[in-house]
Amino acid sequence: MKLHEYQTKQILKKAGIPVPEGHIAKTTSEAATAAFDIGGKVVVKAQVHAGGRGKGGGIKIVDSPGAAESTAKEMLGSHLVTFQTGPDGVPVGTLLIEEALSITKEIYLGMVIDGASKGVVIIASEAGGMDIEEIAEIAPEKIIQVPIDPIIGVQPFIGRKIAYELNFPQTLIRPMTGIIQNLYKVFTQSDASLIEINPLVITSDDEIIAADAKLDVDDDAIFRQKNIANMADPSQEDPLEIEAKLFDINYVKLDGNVGCIVNGAGLAMATMDVTSAAGAAPANFLDIGGGADEEKVSKALKIVLTDKSVKAVLVNLFGGILRCDVAARGFVLAAQEMPEAIRPMVVRMLGTNSEEGREILSKSGLSINLVETLDEAADKIQEITR
Ligand code: GDP
Ligand code: MN
Repeated sequence: MKLHEYQTKQILKKAGIPVPEGHIAKTTSEAATAAFDIGGKVVVKAQVHAGGRGKGGGIKIVDSPGAAESTAKEMLGSHLVTFQTGPDGVPVGTLLIEEALSITKEIYLGMVIDGASKGVVIIASEAGGMDIEEIAEIAPEKIIQVPIDPIIGVQPFIGRKIAYELNFPQTLIRPMTGIIQNLYKVFTQSDASLIEINPLVITSDDEIIAADAKLDVDDDAIFRQKNIANMADPSQEDPLEIEAKLFDINYVKLDGNVGCIVNGAGLAMATMDVTSAAGAAPANFLDIGGGADEEKVSKALKIVLTDKSVKAVLVNLFGGILRCDVAARGFVLAAQEMPEAIRPMVVRMLGTNSEEGREILSKSGLSINLVETLDEAADKIQEITR
């Protein structure tokens, strides 16, 4: 689950990490009032679940309440498009109005779960302000990575080492160490999968302040993170993904035109690879999961068919706990409920009751290509989408 910048900053502030003075605005007059209360130059920041706002026009520095109001008028209700969003962008319903900082240095400071070291790894760079992917491309030598032992945590010497390597002035080594330790506390206590302060800035008054903040929380831990769960903002999520979640279907919308329906995450990945190898592109990742019944299978197909960019549906099922005849009935059910939306389907079914399943589909009168192998599936997909 993703949080907004302003929500993340509330959490950081509570944990003792300095953030700029700021207020939330959902209307233009609230934006003007906020700018007036803060006084002087302010930054108007669109609150969306996507990065790259600066380049996309979602971050504007203005010097009066009136200018804050007119900037708010442009941003509120608009859709912000950045390199991290699709072409439709994400809706801007909330702004963060903050004091503008006088920045002398921008640092990247992040933490992620790292599979290789089986723990949290701290990532830092002097080349802050740009995305970590960009730094990795143009200045990889400027990226510091420090794996953290989960038993020992972040000891002060680790913070000092990072601060020294970032060429912090002597007087800021200790505060920086404190910030790194506190950030690690936030990371573990909120069950985060990623936390990113980019940029963490040094101001002309020699203060270290989190100018931007991003926090992603592990969905599997939300049940014990009630405060964070309450911060969810469904307006930022794909409506189909929200619906899928209600039915416990793992669905992620992608950019292609082949809807994929699979049981099992590994098989789903392999099926997406097959789709790409056939010269087409998957429109989604979808894992129905193990214990699906007719209704859940039908829901999965209906979700895929609701996506207008889908030209063909590729089904790749391995019947185990989910029997193939049950899945087949689910597909037929969906087709009966959404006859106008049905698209050509390529179906590969193996395992429990696959014969019954195939028979149900062949007798259904639907445009279904039954195939035996993934190679055949790829050929059919190529034929349909070309
Ligand atoms: P992002 O583009 O979505 O990551 O949004 P950020 O909050 O990181 O803002 C992008 C850039 O705007 C930062 O890297 C800064 O260079 C600049 N910026 C943000 N806040 C301030 C501020 O208070 N003062 C100044 N001078 N620049 C700022
Ligand atoms: Mn940023």
